[in-house]
Amino acid sequence: MKSPNLLDMYRSIIALPSISSTDPSWDQSNEQVIRLLADWFSQLGFEVEVTELPDLPGKFNLLATRGRGDGGLLLAGHTDTVPFDPGRWNKDPFKLTEEGNRLYGLGTIDMKGFFAFIVEALKDLDLSQLDKPIRILATADEETTMAGARAIAGAMAIKPDYAVIGEPTGLVPVMMHKGHMSEAIRITGRSGHSSDPANGLNALEIMHQVMGRLLDLQRQLKEKYANPHFKVPQPTLNLGHIHGGDSPNRICACCELHFDMRPIPGVGPDELMGLLHHALEPIREQYPDAVEVSHLHEPIPAYGTDPDAELVRAAAEITGHPAEAVNYCTEAPFIQQLGCQTIVLGPGHIAQAHQPDEYLDLSFVTPTVQVLQHLVKRFCLSK
Ligand SMILES: [Zn+2]
Repeated sequence: MKSPNLLDMYRSIIALPSISSTDPSWDQSNEQVIRLLADWFSQLGFEVEVTELPDLPGKFNLLATRGRGDGGLLLAGHTDTVPFDPGRWNKDPFKLTEEGNRLYGLGTIDMKGFFAFIVEALKDLDLSQLDKPIRILATADEETTMAGARAIAGAMAIKPDYAVIGEPTGLVPVMMHKGHMSEAIRITGRSGHSSDPANGLNALEIMHQVMGRLLDLQRQLKEKYANPHFKVPQPTLNLGHIHGGDSPNRICACCELHFDMRPIPGVGPDELMGLLHHALEPIREQYPDAVEVSHLHEPIPAYGTDPDAELVRAAAEITGHPAEAVNYCTEAPFIQQLGCQTIVLGPGHIAQAHQPDEYLDLSFVTPTVQVLQHLVKRFCLSK
């Protein structure tokens, strides 16, 4: 059976809603998208494996394989999209609209459309001549917990040599990004009448000390670490939200602070958590049981591939752009745990992702197909 053309594929994948959200009223299954991809890749002779994520009913990963053995190339992406703002879209997010050299729709660049490009690129290649396998990975819940990519990294069932994640980089290879950690510190004191401080334990006063320590840590991170590929070279720490107390005449019994940290390659979440706990130790000794630290979400590590790695050099050569570091997160740190050289490279600009009227500029079509074909030829097809 002949694969459908790019526009038809785009139309059908955009028409299948697959929003993931931490808000249950938005969150949807990605099963329909996964089934569609299973069809597309079976038609290209791939063996397709669909796995429901443990503890997440209705959320699926797809792994499609053509060719035998380890190594080869993994082309990866996520099947979910962010929610959309109904009042601000001028187009129907689930109906592909072609207008002014653009394709509008939710997921056109971030990033369901990438799977249509993969099929478009592969259907003209002679896949019976593969000397290394090609694998396609389509994940669930990248926009929320990265549960799909975490599951793949945890299972370690595949060992590709190279991985390309088709997030919208403007077809510029990305070899590095920071990670992200969201943390909470909760201080539990004891309330009491404000007329005598001995009546209670003031959580705001303890938090004041905590914040002093966090600002020391912020300075320490800047002095100790630097990665010249990033515009802001050090791991950052930002105080983002605080809430505590209720009344001027009551000793504050509870105060909570939310902050984030952005790890850099080589300085992982564990190391940053270690520094954090070390910074808070004197306060904990002084006020046992008053200070509680917790993750607001599971940490996303930083990711970096050696700028001299074969895949990074090949991508730069094929696209004509040197590889860059960026300031947004992807599934790359988890995919990289499979042991493969990993880059992020795909059509569309990140500035149009997570925006009303998300679109793919049609000028990306030909170069994207060519880049994918080059990569497959270089890493999987005998000359
Ligand atoms: Zn994305």
